Amino acid sequence: MELLKRKIEKEGTVLSDEVLKVDAFLNHQIDPELMLAVGEAFASLFGSEGITKIVTIESSGIAPAVMAGLKLGVPVVFARKRQSLTLTDNLLTASVYSFTKKTESTIAISASHLSKNDNVLVIDDFLANGQAAKGLISIIEQAGAKAAGIGIVIEKSFQNGRKELDGLGIRVESLARIASLEGGKVTFLQEVRS
Ligand code: 5GP
Repeated sequence: MELLKRKIEKEGTVLSDEVLKVDAFLNHQIDPELMLAVGEAFASLFGSEGITKIVTIESSGIAPAVMAGLKLGVPVVFARKRQSLTLTDNLLTASVYSFTKKTESTIAISASHLSKNDNVLVIDDFLANGQAAKGLISIIEQAGAKAAGIGIVIEKSFQNGRKELDGLGIRVESLARIASLEGGKVTFLQEVRS
């Protein structure tokens, strides 16, 4: 997605060879026009898959997921990372190792928001080693629902996540694929167009 790539080049900051900061438009301040375009891109990629629900993880997955939900006309459920007084019964959980925080945490979704009839699209802001997406897929499977696809805003293709998710046999689509962050520079993957 060219608009997203230009935004990353212009407003992203390379923090290290492995970490990109996009607080200017996705992870702290949010660019609503860009998020709408992101939602439209996911809707056009997954529009024919019969998606009934989107699942994401708080907090940075919520903005792109809501826009995709708007465009696909389906509800959005976000997994919580922290315990909540209102999230008490019938929890589906998974343990996820956070790439950015370097800690293991439990994510949870109430079973009342997922049913075995759901055909679910997973959306997240970044793909690094695939742990967040795999945790969400585990929760979807615990509910007896189907994981129909994974939509990623920014994939760091030099890390293991893409390989991990491809191994699950689920369709993965990333709107921007980064080949390298070396030398403080964002280099995108050259995608071969068919
Ligand atoms: P994974 O679970 O694929 O290892 O990592 C994905 C999660 O870690 C995302 O939900 C995202 O919040 C965070 N993350 C991974 N890499 C980056 C990065 O380079 N920059 C930012 N801002 N977040 C990242």
